[in-house]
Amino acid sequence: MIGRSASVRFRDALAGWCCASRKGEAVKMRHPYEKRKVEAWEWCLTCEKPFPASDWQRADWDCPLCGSGTQNMWPWSTVRAANPAYPEQPERGVLYPLYPVRAASEGQASSV
Ligand SMILES: [Zn+2]
Repeated sequence: MIGRSASVRFRDALAGWCCASRKGEAVKMRHPYEKRKVEAWEWCLTCEKPFPASDWQRADWDCPLCGSGTQNMWPWSTVRAANPAYPEQPERGVLYPLYPVRAASEGQASSV
């Protein structure tokens, strides 16, 4: 146990550096066709499932699951704006419908 605090400081510094570089990558990634920033999570309008940006990139910006076109790739924040209950970090490949309350709100005609 030599220099425990020093090693903790080193570990924290390293962790901070790792995080910063990973965040930096996500922020720097840009959509090649739509000229916008790509978010860490992007969601598919066709299968209504989110995937990390790297999955989309590997699939040449088509949906990594259903192959839907790049125009159906939506930023996760857009889906969350309509569904505030959705988590900041979604689960990969899990169904997150854009309108999960559609059935419930059909009774209230004025809701949209
Ligand atoms: Zn899809």
